[in-house]
Amino acid sequence: MNLITRIPDTNGKERVVIIGGGFAGLELAKKIDQKKYQIVLIDKNNYYQFQPLFYQVASSGLEPSSITYPHRKSFQRSKNFHFRMCKAQEVLPKENILRTNIGDIPYDKLIISTGCDTNYFGNDKLREDTFPLKSVSESLLLRNRILLSFEEALSAKNEDELKETLTFVIVGGGATGVELAGALADMRSSILPKDYPEIDFDKMEIHLIDASPRILSSMSEKASTSATNALIKRNIILHQNISVKSYNRPEVELSNEEKIISRNVFWVAGVKPNSLNGLAETAYHSRGRILVNKLNQVNGYNDIFAIGDTAILITEENPKGHPQVAQVAIQMAKNLARNLNNFSDEKEYVPFVYHDRGSLATIGRNAAVADLGRFRFGGRFAWWLWLWVHILSIIGMRNRIAVFIDWVWNYLNYDVSLRLLIKPKANKMYEEQ
Ligand SMILES: Cc1cc2nc3c(=O)[nH]c(=O)nc-3n(C[C@H](O)[C@H](O)[C@H](O)COP(=O)(O)OP(=O)(O)OC[C@H]3O[C@@H](n4cnc5c(N)ncnc54)[C@H](O)[C@@H]3O)c2cc1C
Repeated sequence: MNLITRIPDTNGKERVVIIGGGFAGLELAKKIDQKKYQIVLIDKNNYYQFQPLFYQVASSGLEPSSITYPHRKSFQRSKNFHFRMCKAQEVLPKENILRTNIGDIPYDKLIISTGCDTNYFGNDKLREDTFPLKSVSESLLLRNRILLSFEEALSAKNEDELKETLTFVIVGGGATGVELAGALADMRSSILPKDYPEIDFDKMEIHLIDASPRILSSMSEKASTSATNALIKRNIILHQNISVKSYNRPEVELSNEEKIISRNVFWVAGVKPNSLNGLAETAYHSRGRILVNKLNQVNGYNDIFAIGDTAILITEENPKGHPQVAQVAIQMAKNLARNLNNFSDEKEYVPFVYHDRGSLATIGRNAAVADLGRFRFGGRFAWWLWLWVHILSIIGMRNRIAVFIDWVWNYLNYDVSLRLLIKPKANKMYEEQ
C-alpha cells in the first residue's frame, strides 16, 4: 500500500472521502459538518465546472474562467477540509482504501460523485473525429474548431471544400444540442458576416440530428414544438428520428442513407457514467451507473455512497432512475449531508425524494422554452428567466458579474467578444498527470 502520508491525521474524527467536485460532490463537501468529519475532496481538475454554459464558451460568448471556480478557493476558510488533485482509480472496499494515481487514501465513508462522460456507443471512429462538449477544455477545443473552419473557408480551393468547412453538424437534440445550434445561428446572422466579409454566409449550413422523434424529448411536447419552430426560423436544418450511422471525415452517413459533408461534427448525443472499479458486480447497473438505495448507499455497502449522474436510484415511481441533471445531483448531496450529519446523533436517516423544479432551454437571442410544473411557455419571457436562473446558479460573485457584463454587452452590440483561436501547446507535464 502506498499511502498519501501528507493528509493530516483525523484526530479521532471519521474521514469522508469525496470523489469528484462537480454539482453533487461540491454541494456535499460544503454541507457536511466539519466538526464531526474530516473531509477529503479529490478531483482530477483543481476547479469546478458549470456545465450548462459550456456551449457559451464554445460559441465565444463567455470566457472559461467565468464558468469555473477553483476548489481551493471554495474552502479557504475550512479547517477540516483537504483537497487533492488526482484521479480515483479503484476502491478496495475490504481495506477501506481508495486507490488514486498519487497513492492510496484510507476512508471511513466514501462518496462517489464522478459524473458522466461522452458516450460514443462503442464507435471509436466517432470518438476520434467528432468534437464532444463535456469539459471546459473540450469547450475551448470546440471554439477553436468553429473559428478555424472560417479561416479554412477563406483558403478553400473549390466549392466542395468550401461546403465542407461551412457545414456544421450537431448530433444530439437535447438541451445542449439545441442551445449550441441556436448560438451558431445567432453568430451566423450577426457577427460572422462582419468578421469575414469575404464569405457568403448563405452557404453556411447548421444541421441538428436527433434519434428521437422530437428534440428536447425530456421536456413537454409544447416545449419541443416551440423549440422546433424557433430553430426552423433560424434556418437550422432538423433531422428528427434519424441517427448517425458513421462518420468518415468529411462524410456523415445518416440512418436514412442521406449524406452530409462536413469537417465540423459536434457530438452531444449521449453520456456514460464515470464509474469506479473495485465494487462487487451487484453494485453496477446494466448501463454502468452505480446502484444505490434511497439513502444513496451503494448496493451491498454501508459506508460507500454514490450521488449525482453516476448514481442510479430505481424506485416504483422512477423505474429508469432520475434524470441526469444538476438539480438531482444537488438534492441527493443535500440529503446525504443531512443524513451523515445526523448519523452520530442516532437520528433517523431520511430517504431521498426528488423535487422537480422544472426545466429551461434556450434557442438563442430572445428565445427559450420553460416547463415549470403546470406552466409551460416560451419566447422572450422564458429567455429572461433562463438568463437569471443561470446567472444566479454560477459560483462566485466575480463570475456572476463577469457573465452579466458579457451578456449585456453581447445583447446590446449583437456581438460576442471572445473569438480567439488560442492553441495550447502539448506539454509532457500534462501527460504525466
Ligand atoms: C454541456 C452540458 C450541459 C448541461 N446542461 C444542463 C442544464 O442546463 N441543466 C441541468 O440541470 N443539467 C445540465 N447538464 C447536466 C449536469 O451538468 C449534470 O447533471 C451534473 O453536472 C451532474 O453533477 P455530478 O456532480 O453528478 O457530476 P459532475 O458535475 O460532472 O462532476 C463530476 C466531477 O467528478 C470529477 N471526476 C470524474 N471522474 C473522476 C475520477 N476518476 N477521479 C477524480 N475526479 C473525477 C470531474 O472532474 C468532475 O469535477 C448539462 C451537462 C452538460 C455536459
